[in-house]
Amino acid sequence: MRFETTIQRPVEAEGIGLHHGVKVRIRILPAPPMTGIVFLRTDLDRFPIPASWRYVARVSYATSLMRQGVLISTTEHLLSVFYSMGIDNAYIEIDNLEVPILDGSGDPFVKLLREAGVRTYRRRKRYYRIRREVTVEQKGKRISIQPAASFFLTCNIFFDHPLVGEQSLDLEVTPENYATEISPARTFGFSWELDALRNMGLIRGASLDGGVCFDRTTVMNPGGLRFPDEPCRHKALDLIGDLALIGKPLLGHVVAERAGHAMHTALVARIMSDPSLYEMITYDQLMERSGTPLNGWATYAEPKPEPAVIGTAGD
Ligand SMILES: [Zn+2]
Repeated sequence: MRFETTIQRPVEAEGIGLHHGVKVRIRILPAPPMTGIVFLRTDLDRFPIPASWRYVARVSYATSLMRQGVLISTTEHLLSVFYSMGIDNAYIEIDNLEVPILDGSGDPFVKLLREAGVRTYRRRKRYYRIRREVTVEQKGKRISIQPAASFFLTCNIFFDHPLVGEQSLDLEVTPENYATEISPARTFGFSWELDALRNMGLIRGASLDGGVCFDRTTVMNPGGLRFPDEPCRHKALDLIGDLALIGKPLLGHVVAERAGHAMHTALVARIMSDPSLYEMITYDQLMERSGTPLNGWATYAEPKPEPAVIGTAGD
């Protein structure tokens, strides 16, 4: 929480992209401080695409990044996990245009990052502390962020379905809360929308192994739901994955009402367009001001920084 991190050792996974239906392999590697999260298209000479709001390309049904015409699709689940687990720097080698959907949740990526381990640098982590409330509104959808001492989410959704309806969630995002409350929640869809989505060239890789499918009255997956409010928890997962495009951890309370990828990325663009809305601050500066450890952070076991890291930027 105090210093920048990366992973300890490379890890990899393979699967199918949800929308393009392509087979894809990813390999996650350690990266130096101040790198951020950077995708490298190994099928295109390791062409780099930073996980940044600057490269947001498409936001219908999934978030895609594009740089100089090179695409990375469906980035939100993987980025959600990096952001929530507090991993600031990594390279993600990827040999196709879409991140694999795996089981449709964040869990496989949480397991991968746990297997990879955390390496802590000596460079102090910079947070973006929100100073004023910002709101984006559109046709009954609304998303805002308010000043807060930690990263909080309030999220609600409505789907006219007997098993979904109105659901809401309110939590502080810490690595522990995320891993238990958010990351197991899978992406979801409704059986009557599948044909239309396929006709739009989407969900070519969809299956009951990669997400939840509701028909008119039931869940089609043999194992049922992982939480009664799994859809709302998944929306929170997506929301965090889109906020991750800010590239720095947030100190703020995000309230999202029926918002989707387009609204999430609009909020990010709005925040980043006005530097008076936030300040960059280290954990120590925050401590000096408040005098007491922050909510949630008080119990967080800080990994010890490595005594010397050769060839990396210090403070
Ligand atoms: Zn999702």
